[in-house]
Amino acid sequence: MRMSNLLMPTLREVPAEAEIASHQLMLRAGLIRKLAAGIYSYLPLGLRSLQKVQNIIREEMERAGAQELLMSALLPAEAYQASGRWEVFGPSMFKLKDRSDRDFCLGPTHEELFTQCVIDNVRSYKEYPMTLYQIQTKYRDEGRPRFGVIRSREFIMKDAYSFDLDEAGLDKSYKAMYDAYNRIFTRLGLDFTIVDADSGAMGGSGSQEFMVKSPVGEDGIAYCDDCGYAANYEKCECVPTQAIQISGDLEMEKIHTPNAHTIDELVQSLGMEATNFAKTIIYKADDKYIAAMVRGDRDVNEVKLKNLIGCQDDLELAEPHMVTEITHAKVGFAGPINLGIPVYADKEVAMMQNFVVGANESDMHYKNVNIGRDFEPDMVADIRVVTTGDTCPKCGGRIKSEQGIEVGHIFKLGTKYSDALGLKYLDENGKQNTVIMGCYGIGVTRCIAAAVEQLHDDNGIIWPVSIAPYEAIVVPANYKNDEQVSEAEKLYEALQSAGIETIIDDRNERAGVKFKDADLIGIPVRVVVGKKVGEGIVEYKERTMEKAVEISLDEAVSKVVEFVKANR
Ligand code: ATP
Ligand code: MG
Repeated sequence: MRMSNLLMPTLREVPAEAEIASHQLMLRAGLIRKLAAGIYSYLPLGLRSLQKVQNIIREEMERAGAQELLMSALLPAEAYQASGRWEVFGPSMFKLKDRSDRDFCLGPTHEELFTQCVIDNVRSYKEYPMTLYQIQTKYRDEGRPRFGVIRSREFIMKDAYSFDLDEAGLDKSYKAMYDAYNRIFTRLGLDFTIVDADSGAMGGSGSQEFMVKSPVGEDGIAYCDDCGYAANYEKCECVPTQAIQISGDLEMEKIHTPNAHTIDELVQSLGMEATNFAKTIIYKADDKYIAAMVRGDRDVNEVKLKNLIGCQDDLELAEPHMVTEITHAKVGFAGPINLGIPVYADKEVAMMQNFVVGANESDMHYKNVNIGRDFEPDMVADIRVVTTGDTCPKCGGRIKSEQGIEVGHIFKLGTKYSDALGLKYLDENGKQNTVIMGCYGIGVTRCIAAAVEQLHDDNGIIWPVSIAPYEAIVVPANYKNDEQVSEAEKLYEALQSAGIETIIDDRNERAGVKFKDADLIGIPVRVVVGKKVGEGIVEYKERTMEKAVEISLDEAVSKVVEFVKANR
């Protein structure tokens, strides 16, 4: 490719709307352009990287025995109504009507349609097991689209679905995808961790996420160095610990706590530790209200709580006027005593003694409260968020934490969708059974951003060869020098003939500008044909090398070929 022909609108300035490095660099390197919030187009360099990611995914899916097909993104409502997800997706589903007033949506994920496809097209149990996949555009009207293509409203996903006759078959299909994902993310050059993930209240028997480690990741990962355990914060089981308590059989006492609505304010005004307080937080769970209690220094894990209650929608904090109606007090004084709604207490709360809770009365708290004597929670369970320093639930070691970007998710669905839509088979004895499913997603567009997020420096992107838009760049330093230009052109031709995807920077620009652009767009290896070409010397620099090295013009092709082939 000739740079003079390439649509590559690089930017020197950091775009104001972009908060994180990958978003900034993808805009600055001219890979993407925004059309609306969370909606992007891919310019030539961006598209080439995207296609490389897709090709790697295709190769590994093929190797794992999965078959590619392609479904529509515009989908009739019926299958989603049958599974209940027409409602469950809520405002994040893009819904529309056709001219005859029929309901459609833009597919957010395709479990229902793949299940239907198998119902319609598979005739005998002998055709199983089967894993089908597509690489296709998905639509989710995210509440907070951000970070460029990391959380967008239109994105490309590889979604695969496995269909098996029994649980053992599912385990095998799942393992094949697990292995394929490991190969894919390794080939993409990503530093990733595999974590146990939440599989929801009703869904499935297991689920894991592939997380790219990054401080800007929106998912918390809890891990243990001693035994290798790693889990999403949402999922990580907490081992309850007892903090130092006020001992003795003390009488419960109502205390005046004006202007102390938060734990910090209470700690200040009462001079106690946060571990002597229990927070009571009121949530809206579908159409009812419930209260959750955790120790003052802990946070409620809303995913665990949601699964425990078994509600459909995500939990929402109760509206302030409802908190007032339920507690008969200003917001900030809720407590479990005579609350009148179900109270779910964390296991650690059940270990507390003589603690402080809200009194359901403005500016009042109770102190010296004890479970059993002063109130009884409706249920005690693990409903808190894990924190650094917690005990590892597997080995008793110490939990550490870091942030991650979820790039892939594999999930043992079981019979959730085959039951809902009626995917059965007759076995060899004529007995009817339900097909067992798994589903496996990769955020293809998110992978590109995750790679840029992990692989960049102050000068720009550092593409791994496997997904770089071009593998090599040849730069004639001075475009007015005929010898430099003609040798650069020869080198460019030779590299292309050797099968290297090469750009020549044939623009009439200063060398400094060309070097800046080559670094910004992150081409893995650069050869500069400059002043010493008359002596048969050119400069060779891999994107990760500190400085260029001089090599002979004769060995330039073989050196580039060797590097690229070793890293593809
Ligand atoms: P998240 O928790 O980030 O919202 P999810 O768990 O809802 O994602 P899945 O339904 O598991 O996502 O989808 C499979 C993959 O699709 C995810 O692992 C992620 O890589 C990608 N993905 C999901 N939502 C988006 C989005 N809004 N923009 C880009 N990629 C996405
Ligand atoms: Mg997920």
